[in-house]
Amino acid sequence: MAKILIVEDEPKIARFVELELKYEGYEVELAGDGRTGLDKALHAGVDLVLLDIMLPELSGIEVCRRIRMESELPIIMLTAKDDVTDKVAGLDIGADDYMTKPFAIEELLARIRVALNRHSKKSAQRKLEVLEFGKLRLNLSSRSAYYGEEELSLTKKEFELLEYLLKNKNVALNREQLLNNVWDYEYFGDTNVVDVYIRYLRQKIDDKYGIHLISTVRGVGYIIKDET
Ligand code: CA
Repeated sequence: MAKILIVEDEPKIARFVELELKYEGYEVELAGDGRTGLDKALHAGVDLVLLDIMLPELSGIEVCRRIRMESELPIIMLTAKDDVTDKVAGLDIGADDYMTKPFAIEELLARIRVALNRHSKKSAQRKLEVLEFGKLRLNLSSRSAYYGEEELSLTKKEFELLEYLLKNKNVALNREQLLNNVWDYEYFGDTNVVDVYIRYLRQKIDDKYGIHLISTVRGVGYIIKDET
């Protein structure tokens, strides 16, 4: 059964949701502040996060943003007030859904099931996928990359950038496209981050193995081209 993390600083609500989830058969982890919540979301092997917005240490919005830099874990935001700004902010930075407190537990349970299903379908699709280019191999299910037999140590964003370039090989991609597709909203408008990550990839692949994988297209952006 799935393990659910509740990040909530109001003990009564946390306890209530915990009992209901356990009754449904879920395993439950608790965190009473944003920092602990972020840590558990990334390191406690959880399958879904229920994330309050108004939290001590780190706000729910910030926790959500930081989880999304590392993971696609489903996140349902819990908003205390009926605040449209918070909801929009939450969804913009990658939350899957939100609920306004007080909520009916049946509705929360239904939304948890939907989010878990959607996520496992996405993962199942990923499992089938391996991208290959010359000696380079990207396993999209395990998110691991190899050059020949050697595993490359890529960060999540480096991996995603390489994945996007390979899926669009032989197409010149401009920085805005890369930013929109690989970073979503995190660095809105700041295309320098693309150049920085291209440099990281070149250090880890081109320079290391003495190949020319990623080409610069002057005035446009970047491309991975089949050798001609
Ligand atoms: Ca709160």
